[in-house]
Amino acid sequence: MYNLTMNNINYDLVIVGGGTSGCAAAYNAAKSGIKTLLVEKNNFLGGLMSGGLVVPVMKSAVEDINTDFYFELVECAKKYDAQITYKFKNTKNDGWFNPEVLKIVLDDLLTKDNIKKNLDILFETEVTDVEIEYNKIKTIILKNDILSIPVVSTYFVDATGSGILSSLAGCKFIDDTIQNQQSSLRFILSNVDVKTFAKFIKKIDNDEDITNIYRDDIDTKGLINFTTASTWDTNKKWALDEILKQAVKDGVLTDSDRSYFQIFSVAGSSNQVAFNCPRIDTYKNNPYKYSEELINARKAIWRLLNFVKNYFKGFENAELTNIASQTGIRESRRVKTKYIYTKDDLISGKKFDNIVLKSNYSIDIHSKNKNSSVLQKTVNYELPIESLMSIDRENLFVIGKIVGADFEAHSALRVQKSCMQMGEAVAKYIAKINS
Ligand SMILES: Cc1cc2nc3c(=O)[nH]c(=O)nc-3n(C[C@H](O)[C@H](O)[C@H](O)COP(=O)(O)OP(=O)(O)OC[C@H]3O[C@@H](n4cnc5c(N)ncnc54)[C@H](O)[C@@H]3O)c2cc1C
Repeated sequence: MYNLTMNNINYDLVIVGGGTSGCAAAYNAAKSGIKTLLVEKNNFLGGLMSGGLVVPVMKSAVEDINTDFYFELVECAKKYDAQITYKFKNTKNDGWFNPEVLKIVLDDLLTKDNIKKNLDILFETEVTDVEIEYNKIKTIILKNDILSIPVVSTYFVDATGSGILSSLAGCKFIDDTIQNQQSSLRFILSNVDVKTFAKFIKKIDNDEDITNIYRDDIDTKGLINFTTASTWDTNKKWALDEILKQAVKDGVLTDSDRSYFQIFSVAGSSNQVAFNCPRIDTYKNNPYKYSEELINARKAIWRLLNFVKNYFKGFENAELTNIASQTGIRESRRVKTKYIYTKDDLISGKKFDNIVLKSNYSIDIHSKNKNSSVLQKTVNYELPIESLMSIDRENLFVIGKIVGADFEAHSALRVQKSCMQMGEAVAKYIAKINS
Protein backbone atom coordinates (compact mmCIF):
# COMPACT_ATOMS: atom_id res chain seq x y z
CA MET A 1 0.00 0.00 0.00
CA TYR A 2 2.93 2.39 0.62
CA ASN A 3 5.13 4.28 -1.87
CA LEU A 4 2.56 3.71 -4.58
CA THR A 5 3.19 5.19 -7.97
CA MET A 6 0.07 6.32 -9.76
CA ASN A 7 -0.39 6.29 -13.53
CA ASN A 8 0.45 9.46 -15.46
CA ILE A 9 -2.14 12.19 -15.04
CA ASN A 10 -2.60 14.85 -17.75
CA TYR A 11 -3.34 18.56 -17.45
CA ASP A 12 -3.06 21.64 -19.66
CA LEU A 13 -1.42 23.55 -16.82
CA VAL A 14 0.25 22.65 -13.54
CA ILE A 15 0.91 25.40 -10.99
CA VAL A 16 3.28 24.49 -8.18
CA GLY A 17 2.65 26.70 -5.14
CA GLY A 18 -0.81 27.70 -3.91
CA GLY A 19 0.24 30.99 -2.34
CA THR A 20 -0.34 34.63 -3.26
CA SER A 21 0.56 34.40 -6.95
CA GLY A 22 -0.33 30.72 -7.49
CA CYS A 23 -3.94 31.15 -6.34
CA ALA A 24 -4.41 34.07 -8.75
CA ALA A 25 -2.99 32.01 -11.60
CA ALA A 26 -5.11 28.94 -10.78
CA TYR A 27 -8.31 30.96 -10.45
CA ASN A 28 -7.88 32.75 -13.76
CA ALA A 29 -6.68 29.68 -15.66
CA ALA A 30 -9.62 27.59 -14.50
CA LYS A 31 -12.01 30.45 -15.25
CA SER A 32 -10.67 30.50 -18.83
CA GLY A 33 -11.43 26.78 -19.24
CA ILE A 34 -7.85 25.51 -18.88
CA LYS A 35 -7.61 22.09 -17.21
CA THR A 36 -5.43 23.05 -14.25
CA LEU A 37 -3.75 21.38 -11.30
CA LEU A 38 -2.67 23.44 -8.27
CA VAL A 39 -0.08 21.77 -6.04
CA GLU A 40 0.53 23.07 -2.52
CA LYS A 41 2.88 21.73 0.13
CA ASN A 42 0.93 23.22 3.04
CA ASN A 43 -2.52 21.97 4.02
CA PHE A 44 -4.04 25.36 3.12
CA LEU A 45 -3.86 28.01 0.41
CA GLY A 46 -2.48 31.53 0.69
CA GLY A 47 1.26 31.07 1.31
CA LEU A 48 2.71 34.19 2.90
CA MET A 49 -0.71 35.86 3.10
CA SER A 50 -2.11 33.15 5.37
CA GLY A 51 0.71 30.92 6.69
CA GLY A 52 3.18 33.83 6.77
CA LEU A 53 0.68 36.17 8.53
CA VAL A 54 1.54 38.95 6.04
CA VAL A 55 -1.64 40.89 6.65
CA PRO A 56 -1.43 44.15 4.63
CA VAL A 57 -1.73 44.55 0.87
CA MET A 58 0.53 47.41 -0.18
CA LYS A 59 -0.86 49.99 -2.53
CA SER A 60 0.81 49.23 -5.83
CA ALA A 61 -1.35 49.03 -8.97
CA VAL A 62 -1.85 52.41 -10.62
CA GLU A 63 -4.19 50.85 -13.19
CA ASP A 64 -6.54 47.91 -12.86
CA ILE A 65 -4.61 45.56 -15.13
CA ASN A 66 -4.86 41.87 -14.20
CA THR A 67 -6.59 42.71 -10.94
CA ASP A 68 -9.77 40.58 -11.37
CA PHE A 69 -8.56 38.04 -8.84
CA TYR A 70 -7.64 40.67 -6.25
CA PHE A 71 -11.08 42.28 -6.37
CA GLU A 72 -12.88 38.91 -6.35
CA LEU A 73 -10.80 37.94 -3.32
CA VAL A 74 -11.71 41.17 -1.51
CA GLU A 75 -15.42 40.63 -2.28
CA CYS A 76 -15.31 37.03 -1.11
CA ALA A 77 -13.32 37.94 2.06
CA LYS A 78 -15.86 40.63 2.97
CA LYS A 79 -18.53 37.90 3.22
CA TYR A 80 -16.43 36.38 6.02
CA ASP A 81 -15.60 39.77 7.65
CA ALA A 82 -12.01 38.98 6.74
CA GLN A 83 -10.95 42.13 4.89
CA ILE A 84 -10.88 45.85 5.46
CA THR A 85 -10.21 48.50 2.86
CA TYR A 86 -8.08 51.33 4.08
CA LYS A 87 -9.31 54.76 3.08
CA PHE A 88 -6.79 57.33 4.32
CA LYS A 89 -5.74 59.41 1.36
CA ASN A 90 -2.00 59.03 1.90
CA THR A 91 -2.13 55.43 3.09
CA LYS A 92 0.49 52.99 1.87
CA ASN A 93 -1.94 50.06 2.25
CA ASP A 94 -4.88 49.10 0.07
CA GLY A 95 -6.30 47.20 3.01
CA TRP A 96 -5.67 43.95 4.76
CA PHE A 97 -6.95 40.42 5.22
CA ASN A 98 -7.50 38.21 8.23
CA PRO A 99 -4.81 35.58 7.60
CA GLU A 100 -6.50 32.62 9.31
CA VAL A 101 -9.94 33.20 7.80
CA LEU A 102 -8.27 33.80 4.42
CA LYS A 103 -7.59 30.06 4.24
CA ILE A 104 -11.37 29.48 4.17
CA VAL A 105 -11.95 32.42 1.82
CA LEU A 106 -9.47 31.01 -0.72
CA ASP A 107 -11.04 27.53 -0.49
CA ASP A 108 -14.39 29.14 -1.18
CA LEU A 109 -13.17 31.18 -4.14
CA LEU A 110 -11.23 28.36 -5.77
CA THR A 111 -14.06 25.85 -5.44
CA LYS A 112 -16.79 27.98 -7.01
CA ASP A 113 -18.67 25.88 -9.60
CA ASN A 114 -17.16 27.60 -12.66
CA ILE A 115 -13.63 27.22 -11.23
CA LYS A 116 -13.93 23.77 -9.69
CA LYS A 117 -14.91 22.11 -12.97
CA ASN A 118 -11.45 22.95 -14.38
CA LEU A 119 -9.29 22.99 -11.24
CA ASP A 120 -7.91 20.19 -9.07
CA ILE A 121 -6.05 21.07 -5.87
CA LEU A 122 -3.54 18.79 -4.16
CA PHE A 123 -2.51 19.74 -0.62
CA GLU A 124 0.49 18.44 1.29
CA THR A 125 2.06 17.53 -2.01
CA GLU A 126 5.47 18.62 -3.28
CA VAL A 127 7.31 18.46 -6.57
CA THR A 128 10.35 16.23 -6.26
CA ASP A 129 11.53 15.55 -9.81
CA VAL A 130 11.19 16.79 -13.37
CA GLU A 131 11.58 15.12 -16.77
CA ILE A 132 12.74 17.35 -19.62
CA GLU A 133 12.18 16.71 -23.34
CA TYR A 134 13.43 19.09 -26.07
CA ASN A 135 13.90 22.09 -23.81
CA LYS A 136 10.47 21.67 -22.25
CA ILE A 137 9.27 20.19 -19.00
CA LYS A 138 7.39 17.05 -19.96
CA THR A 139 6.51 15.44 -16.64
CA ILE A 140 6.85 16.42 -13.01
CA ILE A 141 6.87 13.95 -10.18
CA LEU A 142 4.77 14.94 -7.20
CA LYS A 143 4.96 13.24 -3.84
CA ASN A 144 2.91 13.21 -0.72
CA ASP A 145 3.71 11.02 2.29
CA ILE A 146 2.41 7.93 0.55
CA LEU A 147 2.09 8.39 -3.19
CA SER A 148 4.32 9.28 -6.09
CA ILE A 149 2.29 11.07 -8.74
CA PRO A 150 3.70 11.67 -12.26
CA VAL A 151 1.93 14.55 -13.98
CA VAL A 152 2.20 15.44 -17.67
CA SER A 153 1.22 18.93 -18.75
CA THR A 154 1.53 21.39 -21.63
CA TYR A 155 2.49 24.34 -19.39
CA PHE A 156 3.98 24.69 -15.93
CA VAL A 157 4.08 27.62 -13.51
CA ASP A 158 6.56 27.94 -10.68
CA ALA A 159 4.78 29.87 -7.90
CA THR A 160 6.77 28.39 -5.03
CA GLY A 161 8.38 31.60 -3.80
CA SER A 162 11.72 29.75 -3.79
CA GLY A 163 11.98 28.58 -7.41
CA ILE A 164 12.17 24.91 -6.52
CA LEU A 165 10.40 23.77 -9.72
CA SER A 166 12.74 25.91 -11.84
CA SER A 167 15.72 24.51 -9.96
CA LEU A 168 14.61 20.90 -10.55
CA ALA A 169 14.11 21.79 -14.22
CA GLY A 170 17.74 22.94 -14.43
CA CYS A 171 16.96 26.64 -14.85
CA LYS A 172 19.47 29.36 -14.06
CA PHE A 173 19.00 31.95 -11.32
CA ILE A 174 19.97 35.61 -11.23
CA ASP A 175 23.13 36.07 -9.23
CA ASP A 176 23.63 39.84 -9.11
CA THR A 177 24.20 40.85 -5.51
CA ILE A 178 25.45 39.89 -2.10
CA GLN A 179 22.71 42.07 -0.56
CA ASN A 180 20.02 40.37 1.48
CA GLN A 181 16.49 41.32 2.37
CA GLN A 182 15.90 40.71 6.06
CA SER A 183 13.10 38.21 6.73
CA SER A 184 10.55 38.27 9.58
CA LEU A 185 8.88 35.66 11.73
CA ARG A 186 5.47 37.24 12.17
CA PHE A 187 3.08 36.45 15.03
CA ILE A 188 -0.35 37.31 16.41
CA LEU A 189 -1.41 38.21 19.94
CA SER A 190 -5.00 37.84 21.07
CA ASN A 191 -6.96 39.23 24.01
CA VAL A 192 -5.76 42.77 23.30
CA ASP A 193 -8.10 45.66 24.07
CA VAL A 194 -7.72 47.25 20.63
CA LYS A 195 -9.96 50.22 21.50
CA THR A 196 -7.83 51.15 24.50
CA PHE A 197 -4.59 50.77 22.53
CA ALA A 198 -5.97 52.90 19.68
CA LYS A 199 -6.68 55.72 22.18
CA PHE A 200 -3.19 55.32 23.69
CA ILE A 201 -1.35 55.46 20.36
CA LYS A 202 -3.49 58.31 19.03
CA LYS A 203 -2.46 60.45 22.01
CA ILE A 204 1.24 60.02 21.37
CA ASP A 205 1.40 59.84 17.54
CA ASN A 206 -0.33 62.10 15.01
CA ASP A 207 1.93 61.19 12.08
CA GLU A 208 -0.38 59.51 9.56
CA ASP A 209 2.67 58.27 7.70
CA ILE A 210 3.36 55.98 10.67
CA THR A 211 0.18 55.54 12.66
CA ASN A 212 -3.29 55.10 11.17
CA ILE A 213 -6.45 54.51 13.13
CA TYR A 214 -9.38 53.61 11.01
CA ARG A 215 -13.02 53.07 11.74
CA ASP A 216 -15.56 52.43 9.06
CA ASP A 217 -19.00 51.18 10.00
CA ILE A 218 -19.68 49.55 6.64
CA ASP A 219 -16.44 47.63 6.14
CA THR A 220 -15.56 46.75 9.68
CA LYS A 221 -18.89 46.58 11.54
CA GLY A 222 -17.76 49.22 14.02
CA LEU A 223 -14.43 47.57 14.85
CA ILE A 224 -11.39 49.79 15.22
CA ASN A 225 -8.44 49.05 12.96
CA PHE A 226 -4.98 50.52 13.34
CA THR A 227 -1.39 50.23 12.31
CA THR A 228 1.72 51.73 13.86
CA ALA A 229 5.47 51.20 13.71
CA SER A 230 8.88 52.15 15.02
CA THR A 231 12.32 51.28 13.65
CA TRP A 232 15.86 52.09 14.71
CA ASP A 233 16.40 54.10 11.51
CA THR A 234 16.53 57.84 12.12
CA ASN A 235 14.71 58.88 8.92
CA LYS A 236 11.42 59.44 10.75
CA LYS A 237 10.26 60.57 14.15
CA TRP A 238 8.95 57.32 15.60
CA ALA A 239 6.65 58.16 18.50
CA LEU A 240 7.12 54.71 20.05
CA ASP A 241 10.91 54.89 19.94
CA GLU A 242 11.32 56.34 23.45
CA ILE A 243 9.20 53.53 24.92
CA LEU A 244 11.20 50.89 23.05
CA LYS A 245 14.48 52.45 24.16
CA GLN A 246 13.27 52.46 27.77
CA ALA A 247 12.44 48.74 27.49
CA VAL A 248 15.99 48.10 26.24
CA LYS A 249 17.35 50.04 29.25
CA ASP A 250 15.08 47.97 31.52
CA GLY A 251 16.43 44.75 30.02
CA VAL A 252 13.02 43.73 28.66
CA LEU A 253 14.08 44.07 24.99
CA THR A 254 17.44 43.84 23.23
CA ASP A 255 18.61 46.69 21.01
CA SER A 256 18.06 44.60 17.88
CA ASP A 257 14.41 44.10 18.90
CA ARG A 258 14.11 47.83 18.15
CA SER A 259 15.35 47.38 14.57
CA TYR A 260 11.84 46.94 13.19
CA PHE A 261 8.62 46.97 15.16
CA GLN A 262 5.32 47.13 13.29
CA ILE A 263 1.83 46.09 14.34
CA PHE A 264 -1.60 45.85 12.72
CA SER A 265 -5.05 45.06 14.04
CA VAL A 266 -6.58 42.00 12.37
CA ALA A 267 -9.56 42.40 10.03
CA GLY A 268 -12.79 41.22 11.65
CA SER A 269 -11.33 40.88 15.15
CA SER A 270 -11.75 43.18 18.15
CA ASN A 271 -8.84 41.68 20.10
CA GLN A 272 -6.08 40.41 17.82
CA VAL A 273 -2.91 42.24 16.82
CA ALA A 274 -0.50 41.02 14.11
CA PHE A 275 3.24 41.77 14.42
CA ASN A 276 5.56 42.28 11.42
CA CYS A 277 8.64 41.34 13.46
CA PRO A 278 11.08 40.12 14.72
CA ARG A 279 13.47 40.37 11.81
CA ILE A 280 15.75 37.46 11.04
CA ASP A 281 18.59 36.62 8.69
CA THR A 282 17.92 33.67 6.39
CA TYR A 283 21.63 32.86 5.84
CA LYS A 284 20.88 31.45 2.38
CA ASN A 285 24.01 29.27 2.35
CA ASN A 286 24.00 28.19 5.98
CA PRO A 287 20.93 26.19 7.07
CA TYR A 288 22.39 25.67 10.56
CA LYS A 289 22.66 29.41 11.23
CA TYR A 290 19.21 29.97 9.71
CA SER A 291 17.74 27.36 12.05
CA GLU A 292 19.40 29.09 15.03
CA GLU A 293 17.86 32.34 13.84
CA LEU A 294 14.39 30.80 14.03
CA ILE A 295 14.99 29.76 17.64
CA ASN A 296 16.29 33.27 18.42
CA ALA A 297 13.25 34.77 16.70
CA ARG A 298 10.89 32.81 18.94
CA LYS A 299 12.85 34.08 21.98
CA ALA A 300 12.40 37.61 20.61
CA ILE A 301 8.65 36.99 20.22
CA TRP A 302 8.49 36.08 23.90
CA ARG A 303 10.37 39.28 24.81
CA LEU A 304 8.05 41.34 22.60
CA LEU A 305 5.00 39.78 24.29
CA ASN A 306 6.30 40.76 27.72
CA PHE A 307 7.23 44.20 26.42
CA VAL A 308 3.78 45.10 25.06
CA LYS A 309 2.02 43.62 28.11
CA ASN A 310 3.99 45.93 30.38
CA TYR A 311 4.46 49.11 28.32
CA PHE A 312 1.35 49.48 26.10
CA LYS A 313 -2.15 50.31 27.32
CA GLY A 314 -4.61 47.68 26.09
CA PHE A 315 -2.08 44.83 25.92
CA GLU A 316 -2.11 43.95 29.65
CA ASN A 317 -3.88 40.60 29.10
CA ALA A 318 -2.40 39.78 25.68
CA GLU A 319 -1.77 36.12 24.83
CA LEU A 320 0.42 34.61 22.15
CA THR A 321 -1.87 32.62 19.86
CA ASN A 322 -0.08 32.28 16.51
CA ILE A 323 3.50 32.18 15.21
CA ALA A 324 3.67 32.10 11.41
CA SER A 325 3.93 28.56 10.04
CA GLN A 326 5.74 29.97 7.00
CA THR A 327 8.80 32.19 7.57
CA GLY A 328 8.43 35.67 6.11
CA ILE A 329 11.18 35.43 3.50
CA ARG A 330 11.12 38.56 1.36
CA GLU A 331 13.56 37.35 -1.30
CA SER A 332 15.19 33.99 -1.93
CA ARG A 333 15.91 33.15 -5.59
CA ARG A 334 14.99 35.01 -8.77
CA VAL A 335 14.78 32.99 -11.99
CA LYS A 336 16.54 33.98 -15.23
CA THR A 337 13.79 34.97 -17.62
CA LYS A 338 13.55 36.05 -21.26
CA TYR A 339 13.73 39.66 -20.06
CA ILE A 340 15.41 40.49 -16.77
CA TYR A 341 13.71 43.58 -15.40
CA THR A 342 16.10 46.11 -13.86
CA LYS A 343 16.11 49.05 -11.48
CA ASP A 344 16.88 51.27 -14.49
CA ASP A 345 13.73 50.03 -16.28
CA LEU A 346 11.79 50.76 -13.14
CA ILE A 347 13.07 54.23 -12.31
CA SER A 348 12.86 55.34 -15.95
CA GLY A 349 9.31 53.97 -16.30
CA LYS A 350 10.39 52.09 -19.47
CA LYS A 351 7.46 51.11 -21.72
CA PHE A 352 6.80 47.55 -22.90
CA ASP A 353 4.35 45.93 -25.36
CA ASN A 354 2.82 43.14 -23.28
CA ILE A 355 2.51 44.36 -19.74
CA VAL A 356 1.63 42.46 -16.60
CA LEU A 357 1.07 45.45 -14.33
CA LYS A 358 1.53 49.16 -13.91
CA SER A 359 2.70 50.04 -10.42
CA ASN A 360 4.39 52.72 -8.38
CA TYR A 361 5.25 50.75 -5.25
CA SER A 362 8.63 51.90 -3.93
CA ILE A 363 12.00 50.20 -4.01
CA ASP A 364 11.77 48.67 -0.54
CA ILE A 365 14.85 47.03 0.94
CA HIS A 366 14.91 45.86 4.57
CA SER A 367 18.50 46.00 5.71
CA LYS A 368 20.10 44.42 8.75
CA ASN A 369 22.08 47.58 9.48
CA LYS A 370 20.89 50.85 11.01
CA ASN A 371 19.94 53.59 8.54
CA SER A 372 20.62 51.30 5.57
CA SER A 373 17.07 50.29 4.67
CA VAL A 374 15.69 51.82 1.47
CA LEU A 375 12.19 53.07 0.71
CA GLN A 376 12.67 54.97 -2.54
CA LYS A 377 9.70 56.49 -4.33
CA THR A 378 9.38 55.68 -8.04
CA VAL A 379 7.57 56.87 -11.13
CA ASN A 380 4.84 54.64 -12.58
CA TYR A 381 6.52 51.57 -14.06
CA GLU A 382 5.51 48.59 -16.23
CA LEU A 383 6.52 44.94 -15.96
CA PRO A 384 6.67 42.93 -19.24
CA ILE A 385 5.32 39.38 -19.51
CA GLU A 386 8.77 38.22 -20.72
CA SER A 387 10.03 38.69 -17.12
CA LEU A 388 7.73 35.80 -16.17
CA MET A 389 8.98 33.41 -18.89
CA SER A 390 11.88 31.08 -18.07
CA ILE A 391 14.76 31.51 -20.47
CA ASP A 392 15.72 27.84 -20.07
CA ARG A 393 12.41 25.97 -20.42
CA GLU A 394 9.95 26.95 -23.13
CA ASN A 395 6.81 25.92 -21.27
CA LEU A 396 7.75 27.24 -17.81
CA PHE A 397 6.51 30.51 -16.32
CA VAL A 398 7.66 32.01 -13.01
CA ILE A 399 5.44 34.25 -10.89
CA GLY A 400 5.46 36.00 -7.54
CA LYS A 401 8.65 36.72 -5.67
CA ILE A 402 10.82 34.61 -7.99
CA VAL A 403 10.13 37.06 -10.88
CA GLY A 404 13.02 37.66 -13.29
CA ALA A 405 14.19 40.99 -11.91
CA ASP A 406 17.35 42.42 -10.40
CA PHE A 407 17.59 42.81 -6.62
CA GLU A 408 16.35 46.42 -6.44
CA ALA A 409 13.55 46.02 -8.99
CA HIS A 410 12.46 42.86 -7.20
CA SER A 411 12.15 44.77 -3.93
CA ALA A 412 9.42 46.88 -5.56
CA LEU A 413 7.68 44.08 -7.49
CA ARG A 414 7.34 41.56 -4.65
CA VAL A 415 4.23 43.05 -2.98
CA GLN A 416 1.06 41.00 -2.80
CA LYS A 417 -1.14 42.70 -5.37
CA SER A 418 1.70 42.69 -7.93
CA CYS A 419 2.29 38.97 -7.26
CA MET A 420 -1.41 38.31 -7.89
CA GLN A 421 -1.25 40.36 -11.08
CA MET A 422 1.67 38.22 -12.27
CA GLY A 423 -0.37 35.05 -11.67
CA GLU A 424 -3.36 36.46 -13.50
CA ALA A 425 -1.26 37.74 -16.43
CA VAL A 426 0.37 34.35 -16.97
CA ALA A 427 -2.97 32.51 -16.79
CA LYS A 428 -4.48 34.86 -19.36
CA TYR A 429 -1.41 34.58 -21.59
CA ILE A 430 -1.56 30.77 -21.50
CA ALA A 431 -5.30 30.86 -22.23
CA LYS A 432 -4.54 33.00 -25.30
CA ILE A 433 -1.77 30.81 -26.72
CA ASN A 434 -3.66 27.62 -25.85
CA SER A 435 -6.86 28.60 -27.70
C1 LIG B 1 7.94 39.72 6.18
C2 LIG B 1 7.23 40.14 4.95
C3 LIG B 1 6.44 41.28 4.96
C4 LIG B 1 5.76 41.66 3.81
N1 LIG B 1 4.93 42.74 3.86
C5 LIG B 1 4.14 43.00 2.80
C6 LIG B 1 3.14 43.99 2.89
O1 LIG B 1 3.02 44.66 3.91
N2 LIG B 1 2.33 44.19 1.82
C7 LIG B 1 2.48 43.48 0.66
O2 LIG B 1 1.70 43.70 -0.28
N3 LIG B 1 3.44 42.54 0.55
C8 LIG B 1 4.24 42.27 1.59
N4 LIG B 1 5.18 41.29 1.50
C9 LIG B 1 5.44 40.64 0.20
C10 LIG B 1 4.47 39.54 -0.16
O3 LIG B 1 3.77 39.05 0.97
C11 LIG B 1 5.16 38.37 -0.85
O4 LIG B 1 6.20 38.78 -1.70
C12 LIG B 1 4.16 37.56 -1.66
O5 LIG B 1 3.11 37.15 -0.80
C13 LIG B 1 4.85 36.37 -2.29
O6 LIG B 1 3.91 35.63 -3.03
P1 LIG B 1 4.39 34.29 -3.74
O7 LIG B 1 3.21 33.74 -4.45
O8 LIG B 1 5.63 34.54 -4.50
O9 LIG B 1 4.84 33.34 -2.54
P2 LIG B 1 3.93 32.64 -1.38
O10 LIG B 1 2.72 33.42 -1.07
O11 LIG B 1 4.87 32.36 -0.27
O12 LIG B 1 3.51 31.30 -2.07
C14 LIG B 1 4.40 30.25 -2.31
C15 LIG B 1 3.62 28.95 -2.09
O13 LIG B 1 4.36 27.87 -2.64
C16 LIG B 1 4.27 26.77 -1.75
N5 LIG B 1 5.41 25.89 -2.03
C17 LIG B 1 6.70 26.15 -1.81
N6 LIG B 1 7.46 25.10 -2.20
C18 LIG B 1 6.61 24.18 -2.70
C19 LIG B 1 6.77 22.89 -3.25
N7 LIG B 1 7.99 22.33 -3.38
N8 LIG B 1 5.68 22.20 -3.66
C20 LIG B 1 4.45 22.74 -3.51
N9 LIG B 1 4.22 23.97 -2.99
C21 LIG B 1 5.29 24.68 -2.59
C22 LIG B 1 4.31 27.42 -0.38
O14 LIG B 1 3.82 26.55 0.63
C23 LIG B 1 3.43 28.64 -0.60
O15 LIG B 1 2.08 28.38 -0.36
C24 LIG B 1 5.89 40.90 2.62
C25 LIG B 1 6.69 39.75 2.61
C26 LIG B 1 7.35 39.38 3.75
C27 LIG B 1 8.16 38.13 3.72
